[in-house]
Amino acid sequence: MTRHRVLDKATREVIGEVSPAGSDDVARTVAAARAAFAPWSQVPVVERARLMLRYAGALELRREDLSLSVSRENGKTLADARAEVRRGIEAVEFACGMPSLMMGDALSDVARGIDSHSVRLPLGVCAGITPFNFPAMIPLWMFPLAIAAGNAFVIKPSPHTPLTTELLAEISRGCGFPEGLLGVVHGGADVSEALIEHPDVAAVSFVGSSQAARAVQERAVRAHKRVQALGGAKNYIVVMPDAVTAATCDAVLSSAFGGAGQRCLAGSVVVAVGEAGETFPPMIAKAAGAMRIGRGTDDGVEMGPVVGDEALERIRGYVERARGNGARVLLESVGVPEGGFFAPPVIFDHVDPRSELARDEIFGPVLAIVRAGSLDEAITVANASRYGNAASIFTRDGGSARTFAARVEAGMVGINVGVAAPMAFFPFGGIKDSIYGDLRCHGKDAVAFYTQQRVVMTRWFS
Ligand code: NAD
Repeated sequence: MTRHRVLDKATREVIGEVSPAGSDDVARTVAAARAAFAPWSQVPVVERARLMLRYAGALELRREDLSLSVSRENGKTLADARAEVRRGIEAVEFACGMPSLMMGDALSDVARGIDSHSVRLPLGVCAGITPFNFPAMIPLWMFPLAIAAGNAFVIKPSPHTPLTTELLAEISRGCGFPEGLLGVVHGGADVSEALIEHPDVAAVSFVGSSQAARAVQERAVRAHKRVQALGGAKNYIVVMPDAVTAATCDAVLSSAFGGAGQRCLAGSVVVAVGEAGETFPPMIAKAAGAMRIGRGTDDGVEMGPVVGDEALERIRGYVERARGNGARVLLESVGVPEGGFFAPPVIFDHVDPRSELARDEIFGPVLAIVRAGSLDEAITVANASRYGNAASIFTRDGGSARTFAARVEAGMVGINVGVAAPMAFFPFGGIKDSIYGDLRCHGKDAVAFYTQQRVVMTRWFS
């Protein structure tokens, strides 16, 4: 089968190749994971946690290699890549607590002379399907926790960014992960489907677009698999008139244009309330216009390229249609470098909150500014979204922040925080069309997802 070439997104230079998996490869990788699962699930949890400690240490030593790999195959700045790797390592550190995380409950005398306790057991072989935008962090949300819980794991990364997953797997081999315990297969939707339907795969973790998340969840449910599928987003940032400051501007800039807008937590709509509608748009336009765009590994670069030609076309389409429909362009940067997949940052002002610009996930450096007369109206704008991943408010007023946090429909809420980021010890995920399935990634949800409970009743005859 032809090898799949992976490009540096800033130069289109080929930086690596992987072999797409055929159905035999999927079957072989799952069989190896299945064989590794039986002895691994018998290894005491403290020893499994010790393996994760070694893995966390090894990742720490290879942090810079991982960050460079992320920056080149994804395009994001090295600073963003380093932050991503840090978050990923935190997920491995969290998995080191598995002896406590897996503890069950116990109750004496549930009936006369009978005691009960519950234990958490692994599921078997779990599969992970990951997107291109966090090539180190999202795989690390999945397999370390699953493996520390006693499972085996097969992962299928995005074809745009498979090299970092390969590097994560290579580092795991150097730490003594048993043969076959962590398998990697490459390819697109067909390979995901083969994994989901494989009878020896017990559970599927997915992160990607809502369309694919929904397809994955439906397929997995039909095959009677446990599934968590995190989908796309459109995140609203409400700027109150009392918060039009340089700090707010920096935070919104980074939320909207960090990773070239290719984050599921990107704040891609600013809802400017009252007077903020007069003062905030020129401020953010000036800051965005001054951003340095270039290769993520170059010093001082603030925004890198997007992931490929298809993304460029999609973004261009949204910008052209919005312009054609009369949306007011507040900023359209012209100076993007040649060669790579660079999209210029664009800001539209006075955007109709019902328009596709304010509603669709564009997943590029395009910011829409919507005006609202009050906080109430701003919350109504945000809550009309089909998505519910994240929402932020910038304000100095505790009452406004409290109302927003209580009423906005989003899984992650930021108060004077532009990106309410996933942290390993809290469950992470959205609501509405941003998630399919019940349990989220990270934290106690992830432990529940990768384990099954057994309740044991005991009676001793005297
Ligand atoms: P994508 O849906 O195109 O692909 C994600 C993964 O799914 C890839 O490995 C891809 O090969 C595979 N895939 C694609 N279509 C599939 C299908 N029909 N069935 C099974 N597998 C399929 O997403 P992407 O472009 O790689 O990533 C960007 C998307 O991911 C955005 O929508 C973004 O919001 C979302 N995302 C969400 C979160 C979150 O936590 N909710 C985090 C990161 C990214």
